[in-house]
Amino acid sequence: SDAVSLVESHLREVPDFPAPGVLFRDITPLIADPQAFKVLIETIAERYRGQVDAVAGLESRGFILGAPLAIEMGVGMLTVRKGGRLPGPVVGVDYDLEYGSARMELQPFTVADGQRVLVIDDVLATGGTANAAFELIERAGGVPTRLCVLIELRELGGRERLAGREVDAVLTY
Ligand code: 5GP
Repeated sequence: SDAVSLVESHLREVPDFPAPGVLFRDITPLIADPQAFKVLIETIAERYRGQVDAVAGLESRGFILGAPLAIEMGVGMLTVRKGGRLPGPVVGVDYDLEYGSARMELQPFTVADGQRVLVIDDVLATGGTANAAFELIERAGGVPTRLCVLIELRELGGRERLAGREVDAVLTY
C-alpha cells in the first residue's frame, strides 16, 4: 500500500545505536519530507476514521505522529509521557526493561469515561511502553482500542507482551 512504501523508502537503519548490537530504525527522513508525512498521516487517519474518540501518542515520536493524526480525524490528543514530566494528578505504571525499569504517566482528567483511544508510536519493540499505555488509559477510564505503529520489530516479542490487544503495524521486520 501507499503507507508501506512510504515508510520503507524514508527509513534509515542505523547500526549500533543507541548501543552496540542494536539496529535503530530512524523515521526522521519520513517526517522531514512534507509530502510523505502528509500522505502517511492521511492514510492512517482514513483507516481509523469514526472508530476512535482520541489519539494517545507515546513520548516522544508518538507525539509527532499523533498530533497531526488527531487533527486529521477531528479528535483530541492525549500524551503518555515518561515519569516525572507531567504536572499532576497523574496515573503511572512502572515496567521492566532489559536492564532496569521505566515509568510512563498519563493525566487521567484528559480521558473521558468510555472514550475509545487509538495508541500510536513509531516503533513497537518489546511492547513494554505500549503495554503501560494501554493500562494507563484503562485506569483513566478510557477504552484503548488498538495500537498503531509504523514499524514492528517482530523478534523482540512486543505482540506477545501485548497479548489480547489489537496491534496494527505498517511495516514488520
Ligand atoms: P518497547 O517498549 O516496545 O521496547 O520500546 C518501544 C519504545 O522505544 C518506543 O517508544 C520506540 O520509539 C522506542 N524504540 C525502540 N526501538 C526503536 C528503534 O529501533 N527505532 C525507534 N525510532 N524507536 C525505537
